[in-house]
Amino acid sequence: MGLKIAVASGKGGTGKTTVSTNLFFALKGKVEERVDFFDCDVEEPNSGIFLKGNLESEKDVLTNIPVIDPQKCTFCGRCVHYCEAHAILMVKEIGHIAVMEDLCTSCGACIYACNDGAITEKPKSLGKVRHYDIDGSRFIEGEINIGTAFATPVIKAVKKEIDDKAVSIIDSPPGTSCPVIETVHNTDFVIVVTEPTPFGLHDLKLMVETIRQTGNIFGVVINKAGFAYDELYNFLKKENIPLLLEIPFERESAKNYSHGELLIKHDNKLSDGLLEMYKKIQGHVTMAKKEGAL
Ligand code: SF4
Ligand code: SF4
Repeated sequence: MGLKIAVASGKGGTGKTTVSTNLFFALKGKVEERVDFFDCDVEEPNSGIFLKGNLESEKDVLTNIPVIDPQKCTFCGRCVHYCEAHAILMVKEIGHIAVMEDLCTSCGACIYACNDGAITEKPKSLGKVRHYDIDGSRFIEGEINIGTAFATPVIKAVKKEIDDKAVSIIDSPPGTSCPVIETVHNTDFVIVVTEPTPFGLHDLKLMVETIRQTGNIFGVVINKAGFAYDELYNFLKKENIPLLLEIPFERESAKNYSHGELLIKHDNKLSDGLLEMYKKIQGHVTMAKKEGAL
């Protein structure tokens, strides 16, 4: 069966991309379905460093931005009043009115508000979606343009490419904000990556709170395991959160990672562990479907 698995973490640098990219290669060719990869960490997509796909195409993600013609404008101020993003600057006394593009959310309210036909629209690129081929698997990467504050439309454009029949590994942005919620929306399972430190536990708690609100089913991977930090294990037990896998901290792994190498290339045990984890995830999803939670 096709499965959409998002990989998330409460903060950057926890090992989210390590888990997602290694999981991709651990499953590729080992499961019946095609395995695809989606990089939704659109502010800083770096999965490509490990996936090394062949670029096939690149498309702009476009939105419409209003353009105001000061010659037609009567400076009635209706558009300024309607704009919740405060993206229109009007100084009636000197006849100046303009849209501040970086603040505009493309909601279209100003066009609706204007009775004088002074507002038209122009397309604006928010970012790019790139398609790569990795030996028959699809790797889709999104990247927002520098200075663009709106990641969600680019994430939506990446997720539009998901094939329900394939196993899709979806690398989420770090944190608990809107881009993360957009990424995990409509996925079958979320892997939350954490580390056994007080900071890791703090961010994990925020993440758990967020994911419980989105209604996704999820489990935890502990990266850099080996430090005796009981509070984390106690938290998982108390909250009844499945521990899917522990990846031990090893100096060699850190060195390989810094060279853009996959951990599973040097660690068969990890490859087996990721396959085992996938089976556990399948089990959780099947059970949730039976119970009507999905
Ligand atoms: S499209 Fe929406 S956000 Fe943009 S300027 Fe008009 S009202 Fe403001
Ligand atoms: S609503 Fe139209 S006419 Fe009024 S200030 Fe805005 S652009 Fe000008």
